[in-house]
Amino acid sequence: MSDITELQDVGDVELEDSPLSDFLGFELLLDEEDRDLLLRVREFMTREVEPVINGYWTRAEFPHDLVPGLAALGIAGLAYDGPGCPARGALVDGMVAMELARVDPSIATFMGVHGGLAMGSVQLCGSDEQRERWLPPMARMELIGAFGLTEPDVGSAISAGLATSARREGEEWVLDGEKKWIGNAAFADLVVIWARDEADQQVKGFVVEKGTAGMTFDTQQDKIALRVVQNAEIHLRGVRVPEANRLQRATSFRSTADVLRVTRMGVAWQATGCARGAFEHALRYTKTREQFGKPIASFQMVQDLLVKMLGNVTASTAMNVRASQLQDAGLLQDEHASLCKAHSTVRMREAVGWAREVLGGNGILLEHHVGRLVADAEAIYSYEGTREMNTLIVGRAITGLSAFV
Ligand SMILES: Cc1cc2nc3c(=O)[nH]c(=O)nc-3n(C[C@H](O)[C@H](O)[C@H](O)COP(=O)(O)OP(=O)(O)OC[C@H]3O[C@@H](n4cnc5c(N)ncnc54)[C@H](O)[C@@H]3O)c2cc1C
Repeated sequence: MSDITELQDVGDVELEDSPLSDFLGFELLLDEEDRDLLLRVREFMTREVEPVINGYWTRAEFPHDLVPGLAALGIAGLAYDGPGCPARGALVDGMVAMELARVDPSIATFMGVHGGLAMGSVQLCGSDEQRERWLPPMARMELIGAFGLTEPDVGSAISAGLATSARREGEEWVLDGEKKWIGNAAFADLVVIWARDEADQQVKGFVVEKGTAGMTFDTQQDKIALRVVQNAEIHLRGVRVPEANRLQRATSFRSTADVLRVTRMGVAWQATGCARGAFEHALRYTKTREQFGKPIASFQMVQDLLVKMLGNVTASTAMNVRASQLQDAGLLQDEHASLCKAHSTVRMREAVGWAREVLGGNGILLEHHVGRLVADAEAIYSYEGTREMNTLIVGRAITGLSAFV
């Protein structure tokens, strides 16, 4: 394990160069190249995404026009060390997820599904040949991925209850079943489908290519959170997939856990970004909004909320930094990622609520951005394992006793 107790050499960079909401200067842990990347992501999100995203959110549309710009940032599969992948490590990957969510949690989720869940399935569960085939075009975002695990009748209990079936017929597999909530699915080029092998009852992963006969979608309507993300129900009716598209190293449900451990950290970072964005909007607003002849930021009770928000953001960032360092050192356990996800999402939910509070009535108007972050936080709170599920994972680790059923 490398020495992770010392700050990187940051040359002439001063603590003040970090935005105010990075109160303890965590970004200074990154080397210069990674800080440059973070700044490019910040610039793209601020200039290209923030001015247009409320319109897409209202219309529940995905901004396909922004994909080339996201691709040019080179952040898809940022942490993975696979063919064509950037291999930049977990810490900068997490900070980039935070940076995306700080402006827009939907874009962060789109990237998390494509670059985290879908690319992660190929990287962690695919053969060398499959990695060579799919990862380089996915890293360039020429092929977009989705990840289909959850089903209409089973979410938290998916490990035992996964019902989508896979039956081998010669050099092909036949998939039947239903999936729900699958981000990017309706426009993805590659959909990773997790299904139970009828022969040995083990869960296996299959990469189903766009246009495969028997796979149809119903885009989910009327969401009150992450409206930009296109979630779909997937219907699989006798879908034939070649053996060459079965992820060769996915042998049981445990394989999905290997992917989710990493992506759950990404969601912890997203939650911190969502909270951080809300804090920044709130701070700016309270310094300009005047009541009783003074900026509302001058009132003690408003400062109390601002400082509590900053405390939440800073505590979550600290926890996530350490867990990402463990991930880079190959030491991250399921319970570490679960603690970070549960903690960061609870703290996010508090922080966005306080931000909304200090904006008064304007807190529910999309134009001030905080309202969108409040709504989007609700989805982040539930996906990639609810607070209860992640708590039970940590509870089992610290007591040695499983309380799941
Ligand atoms: C916006 C969004 C995007 C998503 N994207 C994807 C995706 O791309 N791919 C994918 O596969 N899935 C995706 N999901 C699914 C997501 O992972 C599930 O919603 C999540 O796992 C929870 O499952 P559920 O919604 O079925 O809730 P349920 O499992 O029905 O849980 C309902 C409530 O019961 C609680 N509960 C359940 N069991 C217990 C227990 N033993 N003890 C205590 N409490 C319990 C839960 O914590 C929760 O509060 C997405 C979900 C959302 C909302």
